[in-house]
Amino acid sequence: MIPSILKLDKGGMPVAWIRWQTAATLYARKRVCWEAGEERFVVRGGTCARTGRVSELRIGSIIAVADRSRRFEGSAPLLTNRTLFQRDHNLCMYCGNQFSPGLLTRDHVVPASRGGSSAWENCVTACRHCNQRKDDRTPEEAGMKLLAIPYTPNLAEYLILSNRRIMADQMEFLLSFARKKAA
Ligand SMILES: [Zn+2]
Repeated sequence: MIPSILKLDKGGMPVAWIRWQTAATLYARKRVCWEAGEERFVVRGGTCARTGRVSELRIGSIIAVADRSRRFEGSAPLLTNRTLFQRDHNLCMYCGNQFSPGLLTRDHVVPASRGGSSAWENCVTACRHCNQRKDDRTPEEAGMKLLAIPYTPNLAEYLILSNRRIMADQMEFLLSFARKKAA
């Protein structure tokens, strides 16, 4: 099973995960400009009727493609409980304890009932206990301190969050684009 291939634009910015079959098509169309990863996957194509040789294609784990793919700049990644909990490393942003995802909840910093939005900047991971204690209040009203300011992940961070099988070279590449966390 070949993992997803990390697609870059021709300037080297990460764009998307693609299936190896899609990557193979891009190689066949000579759209792959260069490769950045260390891994290569050999896939076998059809047998040539004339020579009897089986065609082979080597697919890189990270490929830069010359096409019109957008970088999705400015558009926020989809906010789901899974991506939210991953952004916060399964830590409750109030008590700081780590929980399994089943024990975590999505907390609206400014409660939805008070006009708080469901955007990344207003949502944090909270354990059930802290979420109940905070209730329908802001952190200030509840006397609870947020451990980190919620933020919208950039595309590299989103690509890290959205794939559970990332190869070491792909992860290293993406981490170089991830926002430097404030100490
Ligand atoms: Zn908590």
